[in-house]
Amino acid sequence: MFIASRRYLHAVTRAEKTERIRKILDAQFPLPEVPLHHADPFTLLVAVLMSAQCTDVRVNQVTPQLFARADTPEAMSQLTSRQIENVIRPCGLAPAKSKNIRALSKILIEHHAGHVPRSFEALEALPGVGHKTASVVMHQAFGEPAFPVDTHIHRLAARWGLSSGKNVAQTERDLKRLFPREEWGKAHLQMIYFGRAHCPARAHDLSQCPICSWAATKRRIAAEAR
Ligand code: SF4
Repeated sequence: MFIASRRYLHAVTRAEKTERIRKILDAQFPLPEVPLHHADPFTLLVAVLMSAQCTDVRVNQVTPQLFARADTPEAMSQLTSRQIENVIRPCGLAPAKSKNIRALSKILIEHHAGHVPRSFEALEALPGVGHKTASVVMHQAFGEPAFPVDTHIHRLAARWGLSSGKNVAQTERDLKRLFPREEWGKAHLQMIYFGRAHCPARAHDLSQCPICSWAATKRRIAAEAR
């Protein structure tokens, strides 16, 4: 049963909630590591692309085999899509992912001198690369300010009452307003690790949660109670 103080819920602003949430996240995950193993922007880009609908653990099990065969755009473009597919099959969606990995490797060679471009626009023009993947690469490979928002972070932001965004783009806008620019990338990782550590898939007791117990919105409490 949910027993947090409901009077408190609407007494705090989103900004005040964010401050308290930042302290909790910093205490629990002070130095969140980038979960996907990589050696440079290219291997990170490939790993992020492989992680669609797959766990980071599984991707980290598969990438050593792939990068042993090809860890540069030049070497990757020498492999056939079928050869890439055979290696990355455990990650799922292998036919589409392998085609995209090969195609983007060729584009990097032809249009970016064999390098991963340091721009949202150029990254999002690559096959299989959407805004969330581009955001991960911009932050984790280049240290640029970016707040990657996937469905997990979208859901957490709603649960914590930090955003009422109807989609990931609106949630990203809200979170960028609330968190300091220099902490966007760290906050993204902390929210991922928080979700993995605390959020079970099944219905559960919000009063036991270090954040939802005081931050959840009335609407969220009612939804969880159903
Ligand atoms: S553990 Fe449950 S209550 Fe806490 S943030 Fe996750 S979903 Fe919300």
